[in-house]
Amino acid sequence: MPTFQTVRGMRDLIGEEAQVFTFIITKARQTAELYGFKEVITPHVEPLELLSAKSGEEIRQRMFIFKDLGERQVALRPEFTASVARLVTTAMRNEPKPLRLFSVGTVYRYDEPQKGRYREFWQSNFELMGSARPEADAEVILVTNNIMASLGMQGYAFKLGHIGVIKGILTQDGVDEKTQNTIFQRMDKKNYDEALQLIENQKTRSMLEGLIEIKGRDWQDTVTQIKNLAAEYPTAKAAAENLEEILKLITQSTNITVNVDAAFARGLEYYTGMIYEIYIPELEIALGGGGRYDHLIEAFGGQPTPAVGFAIGIDRVAIALQEQKAVISEKGTKRVAVTAITDNQKGDALKIAQQLRAAGIAVEFEVMGRKMAKALEDADKRKVDFAVIVGERELKEGTVVLKNLADRTQCTVAISELADKIKN
Ligand code: AMP
Repeated sequence: MPTFQTVRGMRDLIGEEAQVFTFIITKARQTAELYGFKEVITPHVEPLELLSAKSGEEIRQRMFIFKDLGERQVALRPEFTASVARLVTTAMRNEPKPLRLFSVGTVYRYDEPQKGRYREFWQSNFELMGSARPEADAEVILVTNNIMASLGMQGYAFKLGHIGVIKGILTQDGVDEKTQNTIFQRMDKKNYDEALQLIENQKTRSMLEGLIEIKGRDWQDTVTQIKNLAAEYPTAKAAAENLEEILKLITQSTNITVNVDAAFARGLEYYTGMIYEIYIPELEIALGGGGRYDHLIEAFGGQPTPAVGFAIGIDRVAIALQEQKAVISEKGTKRVAVTAITDNQKGDALKIAQQLRAAGIAVEFEVMGRKMAKALEDADKRKVDFAVIVGERELKEGTVVLKNLADRTQCTVAISELADKIKN
């Protein structure tokens, strides 16, 4: 028989790597709770039409598409937003707004595999629906910030832009939507020359050239520059003012490093307002990103519902944490191995294991029927904290032997006091 490998671009997560993923997911879920986001679980497979409607050319070309046995055109989800928007136009359409929804799971894109780029990867996704106000934009940025801070991520920063500034200029100068989307794709890839070549009007082109030059850490200065540049473009100027308002809110409420980039664009077509990415300078890839999309839910047949959301890329956050040698384990529960000396004590040993578990202690019960020495050797290798040895003589006195595997000391403990003794 040949041995089987994973499909190209897809990975097994084992050992410490799986632990890091769980750690990140736990922090994301705790943050969701802290900020009032409720979890929703949606299918991995969705109608192709839903997923391709507003995602943009970039994603459309990278989807895993197939026909199911009922001849339906379906695809593996390349992101969460389309599924959550579908939910808000159907089962959750009567839910009071604002709606704060959280999801986590795998998504699929046929990208060229490389470090930090996989065909199956994990995202943790947040959507805040029903508010067009800058408070909502600020809130999702603060959620992102909270996840990063709670993970102990070092040196991360936010890159912010506003698609409304570029859209406002291009629309006022008569550039059609399709061309605009192509321009955004080129700009997303930083192919500015190619983007500029798509603009015929010289004045519009110099406006865009002007925007490309505006970037920096001093957000007040960069926003002022954008407002000045867009002085004759009312929609673009209003977008710059909206960005300013969001920046004011986030910098007033928390200590956050922001970089404004006036020509920042993202691959997804549905964005209408503020967009952002989170990054650490050492890694050339973004750890997460998102933005405002005010027309998607309407486009899916729902009530007009302004919305803003983001996703973090768990695979990349894991790489960043590992490169920073972050401590990922929380002060966890104690781990104990429970072993009977002979088969006669098996039942009592299992009962003791259950008592410890009920007290919140993690127990690995001996299921291999190994001799005591072998079982202890194995517990040692797997870095278990204590071994509980259940023998006939001790049982008669209501006690067991508790062995500390770190310092090799052991003592006899009353079963009734065992859990407290282990915990302390
Ligand atoms: P997006 O849904 O395109 O806004 O992406 C959100 C985040 O998902 C990015 O910032 C990355 O961290 C992550 N991501 C996107 N594509 C990939 C990929 N092919 N492999 C791993 N992570 C990815």
